[in-house]
Amino acid sequence: MRCPVCGLKIRGDECRYCHTRLDDVYQSSNHAARALRRTDPKRARDEVVYTTYVPNDVKKTKLRVLTWTLGYVGANDFLVGRFLRGWFKLVSTVLIFASVIVLVIGEINALAFTDTFQTISEILAFPASFAFLMWVLDCFGVIFNRYKIPVVLGGSHE
Ligand SMILES: [Zn+2]
Repeated sequence: MRCPVCGLKIRGDECRYCHTRLDDVYQSSNHAARALRRTDPKRARDEVVYTTYVPNDVKKTKLRVLTWTLGYVGANDFLVGRFLRGWFKLVSTVLIFASVIVLVIGEINALAFTDTFQTISEILAFPASFAFLMWVLDCFGVIFNRYKIPVVLGGSHE
């Protein structure tokens, strides 16, 4: 496992470089991270770290199923509180679907706006393909423990 604080491989009971204890990673909490970000965003910037270890308060099966079924609209990101990422996927996916529908309707009815709109949907395709790629990587990430989850380390939280 990689150290959630410094990113180096942990061998033994603790990180050799920053002395993060493996026990603290095993007892980390996603719930505490989300709560801290709401109540004290400033402290959260120091205390919330990202770990590929799935903490006890995130259900692994739920995370996987959400990723595989609704991950392209950010369901897994919203579950663990990675809101920026979630919103990016949700907005870009919804926009591209909406623009394709408008484009098809315009094409069928030979409406005048179709050409202009084609350009708009081509631009929208960029963030949408990026969101799609993120989703594909997440689908593997939740199997091979590469998906990062924001947590507060240690067992001090309830
Ligand atoms: Zn470390």
